[in-house]
Amino acid sequence: MLLIKNGRVIDPTSKTDSHADVLIDKGKIAKIGAGISAGDAVVLDAANCIVAPGFIDMHCHLREPGGEISETIQSGTQSAARGGFTAVCPMPNTHPVNDNASVTRAILERAAAISPVHVWPIGAASKESKGEQLSEIAAMQQAGAVAVTDDGKPIASARLLRQVMDYCRPLNLPVIDHCEDSSLAAGGVMREGPHSIRLGLKGMPAAAESICVGRDVEVASLTGARLHIAHMSARGSLEHVRNAKRRGLSVTCEVTPHHFTLIDEDVRYDSHFKMNPPLASREDRDALLEGLADGTVDAIATDHAPHHPASKDVEFDRAPFGITGFETAIALALEQLVHANRISLMRMVELFTIGPAKILGKESKLHTGAPADITIFSTERDWTYHTVESPGLSRNTPFDGRKFRGGPVATIVGGKIVYRN
Ligand SMILES: [Zn+2]
Repeated sequence: MLLIKNGRVIDPTSKTDSHADVLIDKGKIAKIGAGISAGDAVVLDAANCIVAPGFIDMHCHLREPGGEISETIQSGTQSAARGGFTAVCPMPNTHPVNDNASVTRAILERAAAISPVHVWPIGAASKESKGEQLSEIAAMQQAGAVAVTDDGKPIASARLLRQVMDYCRPLNLPVIDHCEDSSLAAGGVMREGPHSIRLGLKGMPAAAESICVGRDVEVASLTGARLHIAHMSARGSLEHVRNAKRRGLSVTCEVTPHHFTLIDEDVRYDSHFKMNPPLASREDRDALLEGLADGTVDAIATDHAPHHPASKDVEFDRAPFGITGFETAIALALEQLVHANRISLMRMVELFTIGPAKILGKESKLHTGAPADITIFSTERDWTYHTVESPGLSRNTPFDGRKFRGGPVATIVGGKIVYRN
């Protein structure tokens, strides 16, 4: 038995926000209440900490199979546990691509053997994510895939998107899209604007994203399928989602910590600032902050995208897109959203828990009888992020050495402490 003492329990599902102890027995929550004592239980003191349902990262890259030099299922999930996540969803752009049930099963078997957190894989929408033919969607769902996407790039055409959606609608499977009009974005390495001109780097306009979001919303309206927009970065995209929600369409979206923290003016000639979608203009970033506050944004997702130094430590133009993200997500959300008084702690927890859970068809609650997947974090503890301490295999983040107020303290999966600070 494990007894979490003296924490502030925040559960968005039941709108709970109160000081209580949580007793865990046989992997489940046995009791929540004041002053619980259990003689033989291991006690975890959570004084001055938040005790929340397990945080879910619905968008990450674990690189296995095929990219094990940058990350493995083992190293990535250890990093996720350290970041306070109890479940992660790896994207299908591995080698081979996760476009059939045997790859999905292989990922799940590997995760069952070595992952400290739940792994819920996302399958490819099209074969090899080439945008030509549908992948084995139903078989992957049966094997355990929780959504489909061609992430890394958009679903290639409106026609293919329609086919994917027609297929996924009766399966009640969400279609996730990395929105980008490839013709407008072609060759761009950062967001187009005065700053890209100053740096002499080719930009991609914000419209490259929002045009594709508009297309996707219309196809979602045509098909009635569930659409989720990945890593949204532009005001225009947010407007499309806001309107879609008003129209009653099943459209959701996520924002990453780096997109609500940094802007294009922060970009230096350093590939740790190169990600796709690129860091947005100040106006776009402020729109994302509004969307996080007003409910338009459904989830915070890291888009944890590790790249081995050998590939990332090259000229900006030649470096791959992406940064790591598990271990700084909670701290950045506290810094940018909660300490900055933009959203409440309850809303922040919601964006990491019930928000993604609803999209993925999973449950998220801190309830007697529920599985004991719990994230404990501090809102006050001062610490500095050092990438050398990470169990992840890559170091590509612009946040190395950043000082934070608050962050993950303990991660509990199935009643077992898988990370403790
Ligand atoms: Zn993407």
